[in-house]
Amino acid sequence: MSTSRSVGDTGRRGAATDEVATPSRNTSDGFARSQGTDFFATDDLLTAEELSIRDRVRAFSDEQLIPVANDYWERGEFPRELVPRYAELAVAGGAIRNYGCPGMSSVADGLVALELARGDGSFSTFNSVHSGLAMSSIDLLGSEEQKERWLPPMARCEKLGAFALTEPDHGSDVVRLETRARRDGDCWVLNGAKRWIGNGTIADLVLVWARDEDGHVGGFVVDRTEDNQAGYHASVITGKTSNRALWQADIRLEDVRVPAENRLAGSRTFADTNRCLTKSRQTIAWEALGHAIGAYECALAYAKQREQFGRRIAGFQLVQDKLSHMVADITSMQLICLRMAQLQAEGRVGIEHASLAKLNTATGARRVCAMARDILGGNGILLDHHVARHHADMEAVYTYEGTDTVQSLIVGRAVTGMSAFI
Ligand SMILES: Cc1cc2nc3c(=O)[nH]c(=O)nc-3n(C[C@H](O)[C@H](O)[C@H](O)COP(=O)(O)OP(=O)(O)OC[C@H]3O[C@@H](n4cnc5c(N)ncnc54)[C@H](O)[C@@H]3O)c2cc1C
Repeated sequence: MSTSRSVGDTGRRGAATDEVATPSRNTSDGFARSQGTDFFATDDLLTAEELSIRDRVRAFSDEQLIPVANDYWERGEFPRELVPRYAELAVAGGAIRNYGCPGMSSVADGLVALELARGDGSFSTFNSVHSGLAMSSIDLLGSEEQKERWLPPMARCEKLGAFALTEPDHGSDVVRLETRARRDGDCWVLNGAKRWIGNGTIADLVLVWARDEDGHVGGFVVDRTEDNQAGYHASVITGKTSNRALWQADIRLEDVRVPAENRLAGSRTFADTNRCLTKSRQTIAWEALGHAIGAYECALAYAKQREQFGRRIAGFQLVQDKLSHMVADITSMQLICLRMAQLQAEGRVGIEHASLAKLNTATGARRVCAMARDILGGNGILLDHHVARHHADMEAVYTYEGTDTVQSLIVGRAVTGMSAFI
């Protein structure tokens, strides 16, 4: 069994780095060597290509994201200059085949989200919005012509995407969305309001979900580089305590005209929207795993250095109990994510699978981040050690793409055959 590598097990960071190679063996200083997070040899399940993609993104996270993440987070700024370097990774578009997209496996697509979140949750959310929500929706519901038109420049990050579904008055019940699309000659005219829209101020292509005059929900691509922008008003939401280095927007749409051909060809009802959410919630499940691993690694390294009562705190039974529960959570998340990705590759993931995965990983990662924060004592609320950032950012992950409760109700509907939504 590989002890130093796993799905997301980086085997690095501070004191932990040199000690992950050999499991549970006493060293000359009497301090047992650390086990990595690969308790179930998940690395053995990855192909050489998946490992290579993971390592590429891992290096980006370690060398480019982590060193600047705290500073951007504290200033509430998006590190836009990193977008060209992200583009060079050639991961935007993930598992989408053709149209200039990487066409990687579902597992590799998940590993990208994991590694970015392990580094920086805000940048990871940028990836989830651009690649996971906007590009995947165009791939799932777009016509050939629409995919040819929008996906290649998005894969190169020449055009950035956003996904505008949530509204000020409709979050969990977004199926009741009120934004309207009225047909006027060769155009759709959009009116309404959107809230919490990642990339909403910087995106070139904003996928706006609206209800047409027949009451049908569709996705309308507002191309901000081409369409009449007079009625598109976006402002950054400030005062956030989570995901601070990514800009989410409040958007007002006042008679925004988009060409008729910009309605995603396959978007006719909210069931189509749900197909997009089923795909993107899987990305979020991997993202949560990345946060958990990032926070765990920092806490382990800290516990092996910090001394209280004359010995390193990692040697205390109650600290080990916390670390063990954190690894237990991480391991179950790894296995769920991997199996989910295998099912996704076979076209067998339904909305309830994606919800169960998001439910499991978001609650598990939130627990892991809280324990990590505790292990660092007072330093757990300082950005310096990265744990505070993971802890805060997990609050956004817990809520976006549907709250924990909403995922629970979707799973509940699947297991009982009864919907609690109505
Ligand atoms: C950082 C961040 C980024 C986001 N990015 C995007 C984006 O890019 N695009 C986009 O469209 N949206 C985005 N969102 C919106 C996100 O999906 C919503 O915030 C989420 O769906 C919850 O909606 P809400 O905030 O309106 O909460 P509400 O729906 O008002 O929920 C409030 C509380 O009520 C509970 N609740 C609701 N209904 C029920 C019920 N039936 N039974 C029991 N409890 C219930 C919820 O679980 C929650 O605890 C983002 C949100 C955040 C915070």
